[in-house]
Amino acid sequence: MADIAELVRLLKELEDDLVSCTRCGMCQAVCPLYGETGRETDVARGKLVLVENLSQEILDDPEAVKERLDRCLLCGSCAAACPGGVPVLDVFLKARAIITGYLGLSPFKKAIFRGFLSNPDRFDSLMQWMGRLQGPFTRSVNKTLGSSCARFMSPVIGDRHFMPIAAEAWHKKAHRDFSEPRQSGRTRVVFYPGCLVDKVLPRVAEAAMEVFAFHGVDVYVAAQVPCCGIPALSAGDVQTFSHLVGKNIRIWQDLDFDYLVTPCATCTSTIAKLWPAMETYITGDSGKIRDQIPGIVEKTRDINAFFVDVMGVQAKQPADSGTVTYHDPCHLKKSLGIAKQPRTILAAAGSLQLSEMSDADRCCGMGGSFNLAHYELSKKIGAKKRDAILATGADTVATGCPACMLQIIDLLSHAQSSIRVCHPIELYAQSLRQTAGPARAENQK
Ligand code: SF4
Ligand code: SF4
Repeated sequence: MADIAELVRLLKELEDDLVSCTRCGMCQAVCPLYGETGRETDVARGKLVLVENLSQEILDDPEAVKERLDRCLLCGSCAAACPGGVPVLDVFLKARAIITGYLGLSPFKKAIFRGFLSNPDRFDSLMQWMGRLQGPFTRSVNKTLGSSCARFMSPVIGDRHFMPIAAEAWHKKAHRDFSEPRQSGRTRVVFYPGCLVDKVLPRVAEAAMEVFAFHGVDVYVAAQVPCCGIPALSAGDVQTFSHLVGKNIRIWQDLDFDYLVTPCATCTSTIAKLWPAMETYITGDSGKIRDQIPGIVEKTRDINAFFVDVMGVQAKQPADSGTVTYHDPCHLKKSLGIAKQPRTILAAAGSLQLSEMSDADRCCGMGGSFNLAHYELSKKIGAKKRDAILATGADTVATGCPACMLQIIDLLSHAQSSIRVCHPIELYAQSLRQTAGPARAENQK
């Protein structure tokens, strides 16, 4: 249990964030969870009332407080729609940190976060071990999507259709330093794949590397890829979160680079928005880690935004060979305002017509650990996304977040659909491969 004086200090800090909530209820209309349950305690307004009385509630029934705070996708739909600009996600995350500080982490989460996630080499080994041993325990269910299901009853996996873990983390074979001293006119990026791309969807990272090469971008891939910290932060484990922020910043701090580029909407949003918002919890190297966050935030770019806004990639006239629809990840559109650039990347690929789904920015229901803890609710929320995708008749659905990709694969795989699910950068890389042969070779020299 945390020190009471520290808890009081943290509770006080929360009060400032809460004053701007007028209880207007605008967050109700956009909350995907409220849309399913109709429970006021699930919507932002209801949770903020709980947080306002946290000092009392935490003493009365801390487990119930935790349960209510955990019932949230952290999608940010409420924050994006809030007329008062209440920093809802920051409040929820700080409240989760307080309740976890008070109750302590469960033994399972402690083992995962402190035993594995905190130690990237050990985490890689665990995932590699699981990737190599998963074969006899899983079976393929949808060849187009590449999804599998558990062969035997599993309390963790349930009836999910999932993408198998890669036999080896992508960065292990892709590690590279900047090949040459900086040349004027060449852009230098640190490419941060994030855990899901690195260990489950390496094809996204491979596509990104092709596109970097085509555009003559110098790329650095670290020999170690620590998690951005969002799973630990979502669980209120600010110790692991702070540790992981420090590990990443120590890798990047002495490099000479222009941009930190990631293909993961959640990593981008975590680094650009949550690292600064939660800096009070980041304690490494006597404040030196915290001091470097603004510089990192300034350089952080979603990969679609990087290629469109920085490298000038433009849309072109699509050939009439099929249709693609695009799902806006909450952590790209609502958190960072990035919606046009992924569509420009799709249009730059030039092979498919964009067919917009209804409510393209409606949450897919994934919510990271929400999906693990509340799978049935996650599926119900996702069913609307699945139906919107199917209604377009598109051959392909693209989205800029690997977590959304996994949720959409699960939803479509259960529907026995053969719609391809991919990241916009994969379609762009594919088009370069198919159409830009000689120019590509020239660019890669
Ligand atoms: S969080 Fe924002 S939208 Fe929701 S009730 Fe408060 S002021 Fe209104
Ligand atoms: S973050 Fe999403 S799920 Fe959570 S309260 Fe806000 S809108 Fe609802």
